[in-house]
Amino acid sequence: MAAMTDSKMESTESRTPNNFLREIIAEDVRTRKYGDAVIQTRFPPEPNGYLHIGHAKAICIDFGLADEFGGKTNLRFDDTNPEKEEQEYVDSIQADVRWLGFEWERLCYASDYFPQLYEWALKLIRDGKAYVDDLTADEIREHRGTLTEPGKNSPYRDRSIDENLDLFTRMKAGEFPDGTRVLRAKIDMASPNMNLRDPVMYRILHATHHRTGDEWCIYPMYDYAHGQSDSIERVTHSMCTLEFTDHQPLYRWYIEQLGIFPSQQIEFDRLNLTYTLLSKRKLLQLVREQRVSGWDDPRMPTLCGIRRRGFTPEAIRTFCAAVGASRTNGSTDIEMLEHFQRDDLNHRARRAMAVLHPLKVVIDNYPEGHTEYCEVQNNPEDPSAGTRQVPFSREIWIEQDDFREVPPPKYYRLSPGKEVRLRNAYFITAQSVVKDSGGNVVEVHCTYDPASRGGQSPDGRKVKSTIHWVSCAHALSAEIRIYQHLFSKPDPGDLPEGGDLFDNLNPHSLEVLSDAKLEPSLASAKVEGRYQFERVGYFCLDPDSKEGALVFNRTLALKDAWAKIEKKAGA
Ligand code: ATP
Ligand code: MG
Repeated sequence: MAAMTDSKMESTESRTPNNFLREIIAEDVRTRKYGDAVIQTRFPPEPNGYLHIGHAKAICIDFGLADEFGGKTNLRFDDTNPEKEEQEYVDSIQADVRWLGFEWERLCYASDYFPQLYEWALKLIRDGKAYVDDLTADEIREHRGTLTEPGKNSPYRDRSIDENLDLFTRMKAGEFPDGTRVLRAKIDMASPNMNLRDPVMYRILHATHHRTGDEWCIYPMYDYAHGQSDSIERVTHSMCTLEFTDHQPLYRWYIEQLGIFPSQQIEFDRLNLTYTLLSKRKLLQLVREQRVSGWDDPRMPTLCGIRRRGFTPEAIRTFCAAVGASRTNGSTDIEMLEHFQRDDLNHRARRAMAVLHPLKVVIDNYPEGHTEYCEVQNNPEDPSAGTRQVPFSREIWIEQDDFREVPPPKYYRLSPGKEVRLRNAYFITAQSVVKDSGGNVVEVHCTYDPASRGGQSPDGRKVKSTIHWVSCAHALSAEIRIYQHLFSKPDPGDLPEGGDLFDNLNPHSLEVLSDAKLEPSLASAKVEGRYQFERVGYFCLDPDSKEGALVFNRTLALKDAWAKIEKKAGA
């Protein structure tokens, strides 16, 4: 059952017509294709890596659509490949699905069906529809033919049923080394669909499985396991990505030969995002080669990575609803994901003041040693978020960018003789500067107008600029991590002949600012808390934080490139 509590999100979803899967299910419900049975879906990850934003799309489809039709969804681990699978991944996948806001009806494992799948393989052998082949993997490949030439029958194809039963049972009993024999479906070596050219059903692999241990030394192939697992769970709509389209005839063949519950496979487009790699294998390589700090590096497109970066499940679900599903693969601008995230954070992120590149300002006519408190709204978008008291004193930090000794044209921020508003506090005017031996401005001396408290002057005098600040005496020092796209090209796979994918890594994807100054209320920040540092961006506390050594991640800068792209497209 999906925890779709956010009413804003639901309305976004119901306004989204671009999902042909929804139409198929609605039609099947209308025609009572499955009688009284409820809509049953499954999300079938292989536990060989962490889930990424592409999986989020599949999860939103599998769980989201079932939910819309009062149906149920199983989480099923497709664990037929013991060499690459680990309990760590099983655990992280469950945590990530729940974090996205979904709860499964049943937790299933393809490995739970190994005994049944084995029985069904025996049945196919007895029916003359499967045989044990002694050809090597290379020979099998050679016999397969090509897209333009038919394959050739294996010399072992016409073994007797008894011999096949004997050999297959002995394969299971562990009598043969890895790779020496396989069980194949007997379909058609001349089929125009390569998947139907006597596909391998079982291989011999003496490997320890993370759940079944050493119980099995033969393992079913994905195609033999998937449809039957669906059928066992009485999955009505088995939605998967387009690369399985050519496998669908095989999916149906097994189900028909076995005469079992007719689950139907329906394919939709994979999510591809610009500047982003969505392949578990490649992501694993990034982790193994330490190109990133781990699966949850905030630059990773993994769910644990973008969560650590400060993305929210609500925004990801809204994004997935907006991208919908189609029958052709394409590429989605990452700015669109960022747009939905900004929109979500704008509504609920608490505001705070933080100075990333500090420059000291001394207000000469403000009493020394005095502190006063400015009452500040926590979120102007949400009055219920209340207010807080922010301390103000004689010395404050401002952004280096907010001061220019020699202002360029149209520069309205602080410069000698110019007056600006300090957000929620006073008007100040720059009077003089102090420089270091290198000629850099290290301190700006200002005067303030005591009558402008709260940011308005009684004489109606206007200032063109409002800047943020943090009181020096009260500031918390923090490390800030600024992220850019992990890859520098919109298509990370765009490479010259023989080029290395990782040549396209963006060398500036992480910038660490070690001496940012934060308003003191951020001392109580929590890892799941979201903040808008005013004028700077959206931030969240990183789990690396310790008391007295805060670390914040920039989730996103404030400016919304997607809104611009959309506006341009509309214009
Ligand atoms: P990867 O290509 O990243 O290794 P995968 O397809 O091997 O992914 P699985 O664990 O088999 O990973 O995926 C589980 C489900 O998620 C499948 O139904 C798959 O179709 C879907 N899925 C995987 N990647 C994407 C994507 N980029 N967009 C949409 N769905 C995806
Ligand atoms: Mg897969």
